[in-house]
Amino acid sequence: MILRLFKFVVAPLLVLFLLFVAYGFYTLWKHEMFVEPTYDTVAPAIPDAGGKPLVLVFSKTNGFRHIDAIPAAHAMFADFAEAEGWTLFATENGAVHNADDLAKFDLIVWNNVSGDALTADQQAAFRAHMEGGGQFLGIHAAGGDREYKWQWQPTELIRTQFRSHPNIPHFQDADLTVEDQGHRATGHLPKVWRQNDEWYTFHTSPRGRTNVLVSIDEDSYNPSTWMFGEDLKMGDHPMIWHHQLGQGRVFYSALGHQASSYSDENYRTLLLEASKWLLAEDPDN
Ligand SMILES: [Zn+2]
Repeated sequence: MILRLFKFVVAPLLVLFLLFVAYGFYTLWKHEMFVEPTYDTVAPAIPDAGGKPLVLVFSKTNGFRHIDAIPAAHAMFADFAEAEGWTLFATENGAVHNADDLAKFDLIVWNNVSGDALTADQQAAFRAHMEGGGQFLGIHAAGGDREYKWQWQPTELIRTQFRSHPNIPHFQDADLTVEDQGHRATGHLPKVWRQNDEWYTFHTSPRGRTNVLVSIDEDSYNPSTWMFGEDLKMGDHPMIWHHQLGQGRVFYSALGHQASSYSDENYRTLLLEASKWLLAEDPDN
């Protein structure tokens, strides 16, 4: 009896569990979670923008690598550059974050950057650039690590700390509430905007220290993790916002895990208009 129980119930369950664990490790390996962080010291050569707006798209990953989203977002920005007459410079070299080179860029995009991507000197240069009037667009994983050694990134640049996201199912349809349809990045969206994504939860709401454009309706999806069903509700749950950082401006969107996000017309328009807003000399006009 006990042998039969082991053979037909316990053993198959054990095999299933081991397969599940192995798949989990494979997924983390595939997304470079076991790769040692690297740091860059020699800055790349920056192209001459020829008088056109110069946009940096930075996608270094010292943590989880969004292997599908990064190239999809890059291709989207290449389309924008072509249509808008920008010069695009894409790199994974963190050493581009030095005072002289940063000063050449009109807009800095962090395309799913993960982990602590910069050295202390690069952090200082980037911070000074932003506080002195730099323009920054952060997408999804740019604010998506559970901890950063460089606290300035979550507390000042993004203005909140990522906590977790649902896993079962990982990707869910949810209703986003477009709170501000008066901003040029969100003017094209319906009041209730339904999207499918990996929905980030943060430790605290950034409201009060940011201008919230879009939040998520927590009743429209299942905001919990698979492990013990941890509750990921925030109550007030912003997903897209912007804020002043010294003399500079930051626009952050937590959306965009999947490559399909960057072919979604509504999301493309949002990121294009956010970029144009950041590039504008007088953003109020
Ligand atoms: Zn993601």
